[in-house]
Amino acid sequence: MTRILHRQIHAPLRTATGGRGVELFDQEGRAYIDASGGAAVSCLGHGHPDVIAALHAQADRLAYAHTSFFTSEPAEALAERLVTDAPADLDYVYFVSGGSEAVEAALKMARQYFVEIGQPGRSRIVARRQSYHGNTLGALAAGGNEWRRAQFRPLLIETHHIDPCYAYRYQRPGESEAEYGLRAAQALEDKLLELGPETVMAFVAEPVVGATAGAVPAATGYLRRVREICDRYGVLLILDEVMCGMGRTGTLHACEQDGVAPDLMPVAKGLGGGYQPIGATFLSGRIYDAFANGSGLFQHGHTYICHPMACAAALAVQEVIARENLLDNVKAMGRHLRRRLTERFGNHPHVGDIRGRGLFMGVELVEDRGSKAPFAPALKLNGRVKREAMERGLAVYPAGGTIDGVHGDHVLLAPPFIIDAATVDTIVERLGEAL
Ligand code: PMP
Repeated sequence: MTRILHRQIHAPLRTATGGRGVELFDQEGRAYIDASGGAAVSCLGHGHPDVIAALHAQADRLAYAHTSFFTSEPAEALAERLVTDAPADLDYVYFVSGGSEAVEAALKMARQYFVEIGQPGRSRIVARRQSYHGNTLGALAAGGNEWRRAQFRPLLIETHHIDPCYAYRYQRPGESEAEYGLRAAQALEDKLLELGPETVMAFVAEPVVGATAGAVPAATGYLRRVREICDRYGVLLILDEVMCGMGRTGTLHACEQDGVAPDLMPVAKGLGGGYQPIGATFLSGRIYDAFANGSGLFQHGHTYICHPMACAAALAVQEVIARENLLDNVKAMGRHLRRRLTERFGNHPHVGDIRGRGLFMGVELVEDRGSKAPFAPALKLNGRVKREAMERGLAVYPAGGTIDGVHGDHVLLAPPFIIDAATVDTIVERLGEAL
C-alpha cells in the first residue's frame, strides 16, 4: 500500500534500498545494472565517496540560506567552474532544482530580455514536434508531444512546432546528411517568415534528442545553420542540454561537437548526478547585461534556487569528472558500447537503428527492419522491454509510443561515466536476452 501518487498509478514498483557504483539494489537484495543512469542522471554511479564527503561537509557547515539575504560558497564556486568551461559567451548561470525549472527559467529570461531591450512584441517561440522540454506549464508549451500537452490546453506560451532533425528517419534517398541538415534547418527560417520574425523570441531544441527519440544527434551542419538563422532574425537560440549535456556525449556540452553556442542553455540531470536535485540555466553576457543595465532584476525565483547542498554536490560531481578524466572514459566506453550494440543487434530483425554519441545511445525497435515500420502501439513494447530487462537485472529506459502520429519504440542507454568494458558487455548481453 502506497500513499504516494505515483506517475503510473497501477504499475507495481520495487523499492530501491541501496546503490553502489553502477548497481542499484532492491528490497530483496536483487542487483540491477543502472544502464540508463535512471534517465541520464547518475553520471558517477551510486555512493561515490567524494560526493558523499562533500555533502556531509556542507550539511555540517550550512544547509540553506535564502538568496534574498545571502549567496553561498558552493554556489559561487560552482558558477565559476561552470562558466569557465562553458561555450563562448555563456558567462552567467542561474541555479534551480531540475530540468523543467531550468527550461522554464530560460523561457522567462528570453521573454524578459526582449521586454528590457524594447521589443515586447517578441513573445512566441518555435520548437520541434515530438520534443520534450519538461512538465511545468511553460516547458510543456515548448514541448512538441501532443499526447502530453492536449489535456492542459490552453498552454501558457504560444509555440509553433516544426519537424525535428532525424537523419535516420527523414533523410531522402540520394540526399547527403549535410544536405538533409540544411533542409531541416530551412524549416525554421520558413516558419519565422510565416509568423513574422519580430513576433518570435526563441527557438528551442535539444542538440541530441533524448527521451522522446532515443539519442538522435542533429545532422551535420543543422545546428550551425539554425544559429545563423536565429542571428539573421534576432531570435534567441535555446539549446536544451538537460539530458544530453554535462559530459554525457563525451564533451562537457553536446553543442560543442556541432561548433555552436546558444544564447541560453538549460542543463540538469548529470549536473548533480542525482546526489541532489539541481538544474542550471546558462545565459549569455548579452542577456545578463540587458537585465543589469535595465531593470536590475530577473523577475523570477524559487525558494530553493542556489541551494548550498545541491551546489556542493554538483561541484563535487564536476570535480570528480575532471580529476578522473571521465570524459575520456565516456568517449572510449561509448565507442565500445556502439561496437558491441552493432555486433549484437546490427542484423537483428527488429532493430531499425543504433545511434547516439558518447555514453548516450539509442536502439530503435521496429516490426520490420527493411521498411522500419514500427510495432503496433497496442503491443506496448517499451513497457515489456523494461519488465523483461528488470527480470534480468538490467534497468534500462525504454521510450516510445505514438508521438504526434509518429510511432516508434526505442531503448535509451546512458550508463554512468565510470563504467568499464566488462559491464558494457553485460548490459548488451542482458538487453539481447530481454529483447
Ligand atoms: N528537457 C529535457 C530534454 C529532458 O529530457 C527533461 C527530462 N527528461 C527535461 C527537460 C525536464 O527535466 P526534469 O524532469 O528534471 O524536470
